[in-house]
Amino acid sequence: MSGAAPVLSVDNVVKFFGEHQVLRGISLDVAEHQVVTVIGSSGSGKSTLMRCVNLLEVIDDGVIALDGRDITDPRVDPDHVRRRIGVVFQAYNLFPHMNVQDNITLAPRVVHGVPRAAAVERARELLARVGLEDKADEYPDRLSGGQQQRVAIVRALATDPRLLLLDEITSALDPELVGDVLRLVRELAEQGMTILMATHEMGFARQVADHVCFLDQGVVLEQGPPEQVLGDPVEPRTRQFLARII
Ligand code: ADP
Ligand code: MG
Repeated sequence: MSGAAPVLSVDNVVKFFGEHQVLRGISLDVAEHQVVTVIGSSGSGKSTLMRCVNLLEVIDDGVIALDGRDITDPRVDPDHVRRRIGVVFQAYNLFPHMNVQDNITLAPRVVHGVPRAAAVERARELLARVGLEDKADEYPDRLSGGQQQRVAIVRALATDPRLLLLDEITSALDPELVGDVLRLVRELAEQGMTILMATHEMGFARQVADHVCFLDQGVVLEQGPPEQVLGDPVEPRTRQFLARII
């Protein structure tokens, strides 16, 4: 395997739901330590793309490779792939019947076989890093939406994923809670985490992303550095989208 293989490579991916072709030949790469944001209207296929990468959906054509290895080959064990990918969704990420610490330590202990004491120590360390060290014993419903999302990110990090998938993680939050969550993502980016992130936060994409992909009706219509795609887009539909959202 070449050392230069991107962490994630999505090549000509097609996905149908029944007759509806939701992804129509999507190609994008995420290199190590890069933050790639996926933008586009509701229904353009962002979540479906994320779900395909995490093997929650079976693709109809194309190839998805993690570290140069085809993960969409039917012989690949999806659980094995998912262990290497951390995922945070828009909402309802945490198990409501478990406290914060148990939420974070579950996968390391059960899936990765980390001894309980070590998993707890790591959870405490990560919580401290995001300023939530005093919340280890709380249940999710006692936390604000922003705190819940930061715990969800911590939980995703607890297994040392190769790739972090973030699907509109601030969309369900009250506006005043968005900043704390985005700040955390920015810190992770600065620390070198490899991230694929669907977002409507254009200011964030402009400041933090290395690369922006504009998805339109299941196609990457335009992609490039944020200053180009967000600042001086070539495609009229990108311009229309940005004019509506900003
Ligand atoms: P986005 O995340 O950009 O809003 P989605 O990936 O959620 O877009 O949806 C893209 C399209 O696929 C939409 O038309 C949506 O209705 C459709 N879709 C998503 N999931 C399913 C599903 N499980 N079954 C049928 N259609 C779906
Ligand atoms: Mg979505």
